[in-house]
Amino acid sequence: MLKTAKFGGSSVSSAEQFRKVKAIIDEDDSRRIVVVSAAGKRSSADHKLTDLLYLCHAHLTYGVSCEEIFNSICQRFIEIRDDLGLSYRVEEELEALKRHLNKDISVDYLVSRGEYLTSRLMAEYIGFHFVDASECIFMNYDGTFDTAGIAIAVKKALSEFGKIVIPGFYGSLPGGKIKVMSRGGSDITGALAAAAAGADVYENWTDVSGILMADPRIVQNPRPISRITYAELRELAFMGASVLHEESVLPVKEAGIALNIRNTNASSDCGTMIVPSIGKEDPEDERFITGIAGRRNFDIITVRSRNMRVNQSLRQALEIFEHYKVNTEHITLGLDSFAVVASAAQIGEDLYNICSELQKTLRADDVQIQEGIALVAAVGRKMTFRPGISGKLFQALGREGVNIKTIAQGSDELSIIIGVDNSQYETAVRVLYESFAG
Ligand code: ASP
Repeated sequence: MLKTAKFGGSSVSSAEQFRKVKAIIDEDDSRRIVVVSAAGKRSSADHKLTDLLYLCHAHLTYGVSCEEIFNSICQRFIEIRDDLGLSYRVEEELEALKRHLNKDISVDYLVSRGEYLTSRLMAEYIGFHFVDASECIFMNYDGTFDTAGIAIAVKKALSEFGKIVIPGFYGSLPGGKIKVMSRGGSDITGALAAAAAGADVYENWTDVSGILMADPRIVQNPRPISRITYAELRELAFMGASVLHEESVLPVKEAGIALNIRNTNASSDCGTMIVPSIGKEDPEDERFITGIAGRRNFDIITVRSRNMRVNQSLRQALEIFEHYKVNTEHITLGLDSFAVVASAAQIGEDLYNICSELQKTLRADDVQIQEGIALVAAVGRKMTFRPGISGKLFQALGREGVNIKTIAQGSDELSIIIGVDNSQYETAVRVLYESFAG
């Protein structure tokens, strides 16, 4: 068994957090690849080292001294090192870096030092070998990854050293220059390393006990999702749930590796296990909804025409939406009408232009707009096998006076999506959760 464990910024923000990480590593010998973020916030008033490093660079660009910020960064590393009784000479690294602090320093190099130094300290503390991301996470100029090169380098390091720590968030370009990923990129490093090594599980350790079944700002204490498929996760993320970024899931999803989201501060919680597939029989869990997510602010544009030739009219309508760079979320079709749901933010100022073009091009009798629509999705792989689910959903919503404006079911029956007035959004989420998930 081989596990790759990635620890996020809050999991490595202080010596105390480092101790938790060590306890997690020590308790399972299969955690042999560890990926580390830069130290994050210790409290809500604190700052992430990555933010401070970007701030240093901004000061340098404008010719303002960054000494104070830089010293506070040094302080964080020294504090962690001393508290844990480590010997790594972090001052020497920081002194060398300080000598290069001028407006020409590469922002990517400077910012990557957050992950680099945090990982150096972690490697010494847990007794793993440090492998620089510049030597195993290879990036192409176009922003993609050289996955074949990464696989060779990670496997080689693993077989040579047995247990390794890799800094997250950065890698190197073909010429060797350091390049950082998008913010939160350590998740990607973890997934790449797990896929490269053919790990059995990619553990993503953070400060929550997994993905919640609904937005905690709407539903009080929603349960965490214990198991979910990659396909369900994608639906939930698409519908607005804040889960891991698609890019950071892709390498493990493609390799068929399970992804386990865990909480460093509650390490005995099982978290959320994301897997390629779950068999029909799932005796552990009776609920047929995996999660609920939604987004506000959509428009429904309904086109009516007595002489509608469906294919032609739909094609023309979609071309108009495409021209205005608006993605259609859903289309419902009637005999003499169809309705398109699209995000109001994407439609923007073009609403009336779109409607008048629809009217003219399709020679429609009528084009109507309903604004302020929220979409709520109930996502669940088990819905496929149970007849009457939508009936029950609508009954529950009806009882609470939620007026449904539009309905769509994903073609793979993974989700049922309803459109309600923005003002009924929270009620709809709560009713669905309480009736089917809680
Ligand atoms: N430290 C980087 C950030 O704050 C990357 C990461 O934490 O994943 O975005």
